[in-house]
Amino acid sequence: MSINSHPTLPEFEYVKPSTIKEASTFLYERPEEARPFLGGTDIFVRMRDGIITPRYLVDIKKIPETNEIQFDPMVGLRIGAAVNMNRVITEPVVQEQYPLLAEACKSVASYQLRNRATIAGNVCNASPAGDTIGACLVYGGKIHIHGMNGYYVIPVDGFFLGPGRTTLQRGDVVIAIEIPVPFKGAFGKYIKLGRNRLSDLSIVGVTILGYPDSGIPSHYRFRIALASVAPIPLLVLEAEEFLANAPITRDRLEETAILTETAAIPIDDIRGSAKYRKEMVRILTLRGLNTLWENLKRDGGE
Ligand SMILES: Cc1cc2nc3c(=O)[nH]c(=O)nc-3n(C[C@H](O)[C@H](O)[C@H](O)COP(=O)(O)OP(=O)(O)OC[C@H]3O[C@@H](n4cnc5c(N)ncnc54)[C@H](O)[C@@H]3O)c2cc1C
Repeated sequence: MSINSHPTLPEFEYVKPSTIKEASTFLYERPEEARPFLGGTDIFVRMRDGIITPRYLVDIKKIPETNEIQFDPMVGLRIGAAVNMNRVITEPVVQEQYPLLAEACKSVASYQLRNRATIAGNVCNASPAGDTIGACLVYGGKIHIHGMNGYYVIPVDGFFLGPGRTTLQRGDVVIAIEIPVPFKGAFGKYIKLGRNRLSDLSIVGVTILGYPDSGIPSHYRFRIALASVAPIPLLVLEAEEFLANAPITRDRLEETAILTETAAIPIDDIRGSAKYRKEMVRILTLRGLNTLWENLKRDGGE
C-alpha cells in the first residue's frame, strides 16, 4: 500500500442522523460507502493517508443517547459512545470508583486529542495498541450496540478478531461502553511503554487490576491485559489462573510475569522489536503486580 506523502483529506459527504435507527439503516444500506465516526482522530488520519475513502461519514455524536455518562450502583458505569476521554477523566464517579479507566484515558496522546477521542472509538478501531482497551477488558466491560435487529450487548473480551477487525456486523453502531460495578477494594495500574510521553502509541501496554476474592486459594484475583504484543488486545487468562490457585508469594508473582511473557506474540515494527517487547512484558507485568500486591496487602492489613 502506498501512502501519499503530501496528503489532503479526500472529499466526503457528512451525514448527521438524529436517531440510532436512522444511523443503522443508513450504514446498512451503504456497507461499502459509509462509515460511522465519533471524534474522528483515527478515521480522518486513515482517510488523509488514503487508506480508506468512504463516500459518507456518519456522525454518531449527534444522537442524544450517545452523549450520556451514567452510574447505576446495581449495574455500573455506562459511557455513551460520543463521550470524549477528557469528560471521562473528570467525571467524579470515574475518579472515585474507576481510577484505572481515568489513568488509561490520560495515557492517550495529548489533552487536545482527548477532547475529541472516545473510548468507543478506541475500541471500535481495534488497534492492538489501543490504550483504553485493557481497562475495559480487566473491568469486564461490555459493548452496547444497535443493529438492524435492535439493541444487543456483547463483552469487550471476544469483540476483537484481528488488527482493525471486530465482530461488528453490517449496520451495527456502538452506542455505549458499560463497565460493571467495581470490585470492592480494587487497585489498578496501567503501565505504558512508549517512545515519548506525548502522542505515541505504546510499544508495550500492561493493564492490571487486583482485588480481594475470598472464594479463591490466593484470596486475591488479578486480571492482566496486554497491548501491542499480539494481533488483538489480550487478557492473559493462564497467568491469571496460575496466580489465583495458591497463596501469593514473590516467587509466584515472578512466575506469573514469565507466563505473561510467554502469552505475548509480538511482531517487530518501527516502535520496537518482538524480542524487546516480550522482555518488557515480563518486566512491566512484574512491576505492576508488585505495586498492586503492596497496595492490597496494606489495605487488607496483611
Ligand atoms: C496524534 C494522535 C495520537 C494518538 N495517540 C494515541 C494513543 O496514545 N493511544 C491510543 O490508544 N490511541 C491514540 N490515537 C488513536 C485515536 O486517537 C484513538 O484510537 C481514539 O480513541 C479514537 O477515538 P475516536 O472517537 O476519535 O474514533 P473515530 O476516529 O471517530 O473512529 C475510530 C473507528 O471506529 C469506527 N467507529 C466510530 N464510531 C463508531 C460507532 N459508534 N460504532 C461502530 N464503529 C464506530 C470508525 O468507523 C473508525 O473505524 C492517536 C491518534 C492521533 C491522531
